[in-house]
Amino acid sequence: MPLVNTKEMFEKAYKGGYAIGAFNVNNMEIVQAITEAAGSLNAPVILQVSSGARKYANSRYLIHMVKAACENFPDLPIALHLDHGDSFELCKACIDDGFTSVMIDYSGHPYEENVEVTKKVCEYAHDVKARGRYITVEAELGTLAGVEDDVKVEFGKSSYTDPEQVQDFVTRTGVDSLAIAIGTSHGAYKFKAEQCTRNKDGILVPPALRLDILEEVSRRLPGFPIVLHGSSSVPQEYVKIINEHGGKMPDAIGIPEDQLREAAKRSVCKINIDSDLRLGMTAAIRKHFDEHPDHFDPRQYLKDGRDYVRETVKHKIVAVLGCDNKA
Ligand SMILES: [Zn+2]
Repeated sequence: MPLVNTKEMFEKAYKGGYAIGAFNVNNMEIVQAITEAAGSLNAPVILQVSSGARKYANSRYLIHMVKAACENFPDLPIALHLDHGDSFELCKACIDDGFTSVMIDYSGHPYEENVEVTKKVCEYAHDVKARGRYITVEAELGTLAGVEDDVKVEFGKSSYTDPEQVQDFVTRTGVDSLAIAIGTSHGAYKFKAEQCTRNKDGILVPPALRLDILEEVSRRLPGFPIVLHGSSSVPQEYVKIINEHGGKMPDAIGIPEDQLREAAKRSVCKINIDSDLRLGMTAAIRKHFDEHPDHFDPRQYLKDGRDYVRETVKHKIVAVLGCDNKA
């Protein structure tokens, strides 16, 4: 089927108590790995492109690779989404290029500016008369800590979403989904050691997600789809493989998967996972180089990378998102 927007996906996910995975794509192997995983489990999926990915791969290559994946999996609902659009112009360019969903992230700006720019993007994206299709729009209230491509927020400068603002924001902008800050964070180092406790194996345990804020937001926005960014769990087995094969990632830490599953059962309909795929790819390639110092054909190690990413996405679909067999 052609690319879809996220409207129907989210309606079903909300009612069904599961979430759709949104995975970042940067090259062919990652597009293949994610869609092979989703295809094998009959799971709807969102492929998202950040401004960093556009700079790295050139948007045109990514769009055509995603369309190739749609041809390969004709029965699978696949959305092509802009991650962290930082201006109306960027959102407009992606919509004009064929994206089916965009995020406008003005969460770092004053509230009234966030309302104004999000509304402008929605008016453009929702104009079915002008372009014959409805583009879904995601916005953000509250700010996440951490680093993701061009988005950097220092620890201590992040803030939880204020539930008092959500109704006003959604009503005035007409936005289709809302990313909120309840304690998730971008990157593979989501928390400083002093914010965490350590378990008996010496692994850092982060502070719990603020599911109370999520519930208060949902009480004020019944039936409305919520999005979580920065929701990688930083699998310790990948960190171990990386560190055992020449890498150096001490105290990398993520969000426990059982907490994300709880959020997915509630009003969270989209969960963004990027760092875990990066870690899988890196673990596989480091291991490959260490074990086969004579290899120099990129297909040899990229194949391993693709295998690890595929297994990671399959695990997320079943254990975290619960969207297997929901296509
Ligand atoms: Zn994000």
